[in-house]
Amino acid sequence: MNASTPLTAMRPDPAATDAPDLLAWEMIRTLVGFDTTSRESNLALIDWIRAYLESHGADCLLTFDDDKRKANLFATFAAQDGNATSGGIVLSGHTDVVPVDGQPWDTNPFEATAIGDRVFGRGVTDMKSFSATGLAFVPEFLRRGLRRPLHFALSYDEEVGCIGVGRLIDDIVRRGVRPLGCIVGEPTGMELVVAHKGKKSWRCRVRGHEAHSSLTPHGVNAVQLACEIVTCLTNMARAFRDQGGYDHAYDVPYTTVHTGVIRGGTALNIVPRDCSFDFEFRHLPFDDPDELFAEVNEYAQRFLPEMRKVASNTHIEFDLLSASPGFDTHGESDIALLGQDCNGTSDHGKVSFGTEAGLFHAAGVPAIICGPGHIAQAHQPNEWVAVDQLARCEAFMRRLADRVCAA
Ligand SMILES: [Zn+2]
Repeated sequence: MNASTPLTAMRPDPAATDAPDLLAWEMIRTLVGFDTTSRESNLALIDWIRAYLESHGADCLLTFDDDKRKANLFATFAAQDGNATSGGIVLSGHTDVVPVDGQPWDTNPFEATAIGDRVFGRGVTDMKSFSATGLAFVPEFLRRGLRRPLHFALSYDEEVGCIGVGRLIDDIVRRGVRPLGCIVGEPTGMELVVAHKGKKSWRCRVRGHEAHSSLTPHGVNAVQLACEIVTCLTNMARAFRDQGGYDHAYDVPYTTVHTGVIRGGTALNIVPRDCSFDFEFRHLPFDDPDELFAEVNEYAQRFLPEMRKVASNTHIEFDLLSASPGFDTHGESDIALLGQDCNGTSDHGKVSFGTEAGLFHAAGVPAIICGPGHIAQAHQPNEWVAVDQLARCEAFMRRLADRVCAA
């Protein structure tokens, strides 16, 4: 948002709605209409899409979470020659959205609302519009005749750590499906993205020893020790910023180190016994997050002798919170070249945010990311996507049909 734009200019007026001229408009309205906040079941949406795809002849497979409250859908339209397993194109999207709790929305978040040149609604950018556009083009793909298989991979629980899609990917690998590549429709402003960073995060728990704050030498101050380790992380972050390595194709061209949460202490007159903090590395492919972690761990363990001189039951421990691989599908790969054709430009870039593309790539399915809207509009109140972005997504699908269809 431009700093000079008054906030009121960003607010939709629900009275002034009109339907944009898009083939996928009804499909976008349908998908946004299901509340698929990550904590809720997504089965109503999955059942609806499955019925739609099966009515067009798709072979659909569901993989569930442990409670059977959520499902991934993997759907296949075989090529005209009957090939259903090799050389296909996967259109991939997550079905879940982030919560709207506590956010000031001016429209119903679960109703796609078109106002002027924008569409508002939870998930219009992240990322139901891409999936909806792919689904809306199914009749066109079929009418023109598929020369390659076309797959849809629709997952659950992406927004809480790419949890669901792993089961879908395991399943397709097990069944011998070998696609040419996967197009993940996360919001990139319809720019082609061929790489993103990996991410690995940990929680550090410092156990010190309580004492009255007038007797600090009798205690072990967990807050102060935690801050020393956070400072070690901060110094690592500065070193990456100032000395690299760099890859200037990324928006942030070096590995970043970040501490996001810290909790510790109970009262000023007590030497605190416990402090914990969460930190992450978002790393370039050539920086190894486990090596970085080893450095931090080694630094932390140096405090132990001093701590244990005061109290023997003190410790510093780390729990792994999440790990998602980065990926780099080179600009000359088949799927990247196809993406460039569909976008009508050879431009391609790299981004710092993680997606399911890294997991497809790790399973041997080359991936690219290209979807309507911008990541800055995701997760916000009044989430919106420009109608022009949706039109570009439709143009992408039409050119994709030109390349994978017989007619
Ligand atoms: Zn997303």
